[in-house]
Amino acid sequence: MSIKKVAVIGAGTMGSGIAGQVANAGIEVWLLDLPGDDNANALSERGLERLRDPNQPGLISKEAENFIHLGNTRDDFEQLADCDWIAEAVVERLDIKKDLYQRLDAVCKADAIITSNTSTIPIRLLVEDMPLPFRQRFAITHFFNPVRFMRLLELVRGEDTDPAIIDLLADFCEQQLGKGVVPCLDTPGFLGNRVGVFAIQCALHAAFELGLTPLEADAIFGRPMGIPKTGVFGLYDLIGIDLMSDVVQSLVNILPDSDAFHAEAAKIPLMTQMIANGQTGNKQGQGFYRDSDSGREVLDLESAQYQDAPRLNLPLAESAEQHGVRQLLDDDSRYGQFAWRILSRTLCYAASLIPEVGDDPVAIDDAMKLGYNWIKGPFELIDEIGVDYFIERLQSDGIAIPPFLAEARGSSFYRVSDAALQARRGGGDWQAIERPQGVIRFSEKRQTMKPQNSCAVASWYDLDGVALVEFHSKANALDADSMRILGDALTQAEAGAMRGLIVHNDAQHFSCGVNLQSVRNFFQREDMDGLDAFLKNFQDTVHRMQCASFPVVAAPVGMSIGGGFEVVLHAKQVVCHANSVTGLVESLVGLVPGGGGCKETLYRWIDLLQCGDDISEACWKAFMNLGYGKTASSPIIAKKQAMLRPNDRFVINRDRILGEAISAIDDEAGQASFERPALSLPGRPVFEEMVKWLEQSRDKGMFMPHDVSVGSEMARIVTGGDVEPGTVWNEQDFYDAERRSFLDLVASAATRERINSMLDAGSPIRN
Ligand code: NAD
Repeated sequence: MSIKKVAVIGAGTMGSGIAGQVANAGIEVWLLDLPGDDNANALSERGLERLRDPNQPGLISKEAENFIHLGNTRDDFEQLADCDWIAEAVVERLDIKKDLYQRLDAVCKADAIITSNTSTIPIRLLVEDMPLPFRQRFAITHFFNPVRFMRLLELVRGEDTDPAIIDLLADFCEQQLGKGVVPCLDTPGFLGNRVGVFAIQCALHAAFELGLTPLEADAIFGRPMGIPKTGVFGLYDLIGIDLMSDVVQSLVNILPDSDAFHAEAAKIPLMTQMIANGQTGNKQGQGFYRDSDSGREVLDLESAQYQDAPRLNLPLAESAEQHGVRQLLDDDSRYGQFAWRILSRTLCYAASLIPEVGDDPVAIDDAMKLGYNWIKGPFELIDEIGVDYFIERLQSDGIAIPPFLAEARGSSFYRVSDAALQARRGGGDWQAIERPQGVIRFSEKRQTMKPQNSCAVASWYDLDGVALVEFHSKANALDADSMRILGDALTQAEAGAMRGLIVHNDAQHFSCGVNLQSVRNFFQREDMDGLDAFLKNFQDTVHRMQCASFPVVAAPVGMSIGGGFEVVLHAKQVVCHANSVTGLVESLVGLVPGGGGCKETLYRWIDLLQCGDDISEACWKAFMNLGYGKTASSPIIAKKQAMLRPNDRFVINRDRILGEAISAIDDEAGQASFERPALSLPGRPVFEEMVKWLEQSRDKGMFMPHDVSVGSEMARIVTGGDVEPGTVWNEQDFYDAERRSFLDLVASAATRERINSMLDAGSPIRN
């Protein structure tokens, strides 16, 4: 059996998200909710509206909407009769779910799979009234919010669930919906929330006890620990302080009294007051943080008043982000104590769950990485800290050592043996980490390999004859060293030592662009020749990718923006993720793309519009993309914006990107090198029109003065500028024009102000 038609019942936060992801996979889905009074489909229509939220689009394209059929549980229930999978995502009420299952059993076909998205209700209770054939086809598919973006799917089988149903769901959710499927036992909170909510609560209580401000707490319990920068207070605001308090309460209700969670679950009076005041977080515009006319404010936890929230620069946090969490733990300030308190308890708690939740530490690590966006899972963190150090410190604090942790004494939870990454299992056994066929996580693969050439910001590896270049600086920002490593890998491939080249990493984002600090270093030294040489080398290196005699694939995940996207633009083929975000955003910091980005934007618009001799329209399109610093939130949108080319591909599961990229190296079809032809340019008249448009827009208050200067440089590059119409430029002329404009802008005080403010305050000023 295969899943070809799906229904989702309950069109709230989760139901709409699940339906959206099914539609993203190109599969028909009915989305039903309760009938409304005036408009029967009002609730499912609202679900679709949620998916259209431009700040967090649940759909990868407008076309995906065509796969979604809206309805209600009164008028459209018979639509379920031929559905292969019915995903229930109604409110967390056992009585309502049970009633629904009775109705489903009467309508659905005999082999339809039924799942619940419940976070807290055990399967045993959900299906206790249902006949065996229903129980055999029933499981929990626990998605995370937002469904399109969170990779984790916890798949829970009941006592009676047919293993074939679990296999089918696992394959479908992994391959078609792009999820990292973690099989779980039917234990309270499964894996992600059990450990994740514990960690958040621990951080919250520790911050109050140690008297840390939200800014301080979030600066430590964030990037320095490999945790998203929302930290703890920011995360509370994001989820909703009221909703989080319900989640905590539901775990309190279902966990046994002996569980360590109860010690972290006490209500904090200030937060009870905040809920009563409507300060429930981002959805109400105020929580621990709020935005005011004068900027961001933070709640003072003692006076309960808001104060200015300047950017906090903690050298300890910076250093830990670079050198690892031991920097935090070895520090005896309040920040170090804070980090130790959270990690000692959370990592110990995770270890104590084995074997209750299963005997596999990889499942817990995966749950935290895919469901909470931690860079390392709890057991990977213990390995980083050092098992013996961790145990000794726990003992000196009088904390009991869980048996699974004690077993690792003198050793680790992960090791490389026989060129494979293995994980410790209960009883001292080791097992190679097995991923589904076609899934390759480079973060795992890399541990079994030695780089061919490496520096602090980039490395390249020989992956069975293919050169794999990985950027690994902070935010994967690019500098001269990144380009040196890329250049070295290209040289090896050019010499025939490698059969192709892939640029990829398994980080959250592929690259946020050229390291602005290195640009600032050049202008602070007034070393414009040095900056020009850096840009020239960048252009020459990416140009070698474009014109290579061997296959070159860029396989980006997350964001590829600015210079990061210029690397992608010059690959002969792109294999990216369905959620990849791309764009050239240099205008924000007062720059033009200087690594072939302006050139490629223009040529790609010419190709997309199939311009003849008159390329004016393509010039305008390129000018708009570049000037507004447009980004595309999916590869489908990127193709419509001429950011990606027709032969570029995407996959829905980011764990499959590397495998697909390797296939693309072996299957060279569609990988012609694309040296660009010379162009006859529209020159002065179109250039002047663009500048006039910029000035008029500025006079209407739409642009700031420096936007006009930056936009004019973009206009100059894509039209040829102040030259006769018909002037002919080749690729090198465009590269040269980009560098000239880049250098002119960097020489301006206004661009320097933007760059300084980006680096020092975290956002560019508008000037
Ligand atoms: P929600 O309140 O946003 O949406 C629930 C929807 O169910 C509402 O639109 C409601 O009208 C509808 N509904 C209620 N009774 C119904 C019925 N009899 N028939 C059809 N529709 C009905 O809730 P949610 O956050 O989407 O949660 C749904 C499920 O997912 C719950 O079981 C919850 O525990 C679980 N869950 C939630 C999250 C999360 O972050 N919100 C994460 C994982 C799992």
